Amino acid sequence: MVPNLRRWDFDVVADIFNRRDRNLILQIPFGSRIVEDGWYWLPNSKGQYTVRSCYKMLENLPSPPNSSVWRNLWQLPVPAKVKNFLWRAMANVVPTADNLVQRRVEVHPLCPICNVSTETIYHVLLECPFAKSCWLASVVGFIGNCVNVGEWLETLFTRCSKDDCSLAAMICWGIWLNRNNRVWRNINGRVSTLLNLAGQHLFQWQQVRKNPYFSHSLVANDHGSVCWKRPRDGWFKCNVDATISRHRGTISFGAVIRSSQGDLLQLKVLPFLVHLQLVRQRESACEKLSVGSCIFQFVQLLLRWIAYKCLMLYMTVLLILMVLVL
Ligand SMILES: [Zn+2]
Repeated sequence: MVPNLRRWDFDVVADIFNRRDRNLILQIPFGSRIVEDGWYWLPNSKGQYTVRSCYKMLENLPSPPNSSVWRNLWQLPVPAKVKNFLWRAMANVVPTADNLVQRRVEVHPLCPICNVSTETIYHVLLECPFAKSCWLASVVGFIGNCVNVGEWLETLFTRCSKDDCSLAAMICWGIWLNRNNRVWRNINGRVSTLLNLAGQHLFQWQQVRKNPYFSHSLVANDHGSVCWKRPRDGWFKCNVDATISRHRGTISFGAVIRSSQGDLLQLKVLPFLVHLQLVRQRESACEKLSVGSCIFQFVQLLLRWIAYKCLMLYMTVLLILMVLVL
């Protein structure tokens, strides 16, 4: 607005906003009264701030979740993305229709699953008929009569075991994914599928966590003994490694080039598909021939030696090319 004048500053509006927004802004009419802007305290009918009105307002606010809820949530043995989602659900910062409408996004306010109630996060996760069916069919059961997600979680942590709470968290995640599938792909999920997937994902994730290979402490101990050492100043260092997966029938090579400062300069991973199954069959077939087994082993070693040399040659050429690119 132009100061002291009841008209828009076209140049400023044109500089800041795109054509659509600019036209919308310029169409906004001005009021007939010319009054200076001032502070207005909404909880007081006169617009004046008083401690009494502030105290009343705070009394009427929904109580924040108990700190034990947060502690229980972060200690749940579920994937971090699921905990993060529940935290956002509790803070009501997920993009449900009611939140989008509040932020002036033009979306339909009703729940896309039932098309009956306004879509809030509490409705999506608990009140919606689809969500209710999920809870009633699960071992967790339906916990109703709560005001918000925070209160529901508080009740859940009080009533249910840790295993059931973990499963409940996975079901919440599944219900939210199902809602997103409905909104973005027009796909309707099924209660039985959702519950099966929730249980499977939780079981698989927990099994992987039990594997000592993925244990943070063991990994740290094993790998901590071998440390990467810097090359001399002005030099680059290239670390290479290779792996064979007989199960997948692949051989993969990896190379990392770092500077003397330890900065990552180039990274390359090359997977190859080979017929390891065929090689094994030929090996076993030839090993059955008592006369030819020695010859076969010699040829096998020779071929491996040639393959190794070819591999080293290939890696050398690759590294030269990578350095040239740098
Ligand atoms: Zn609904």
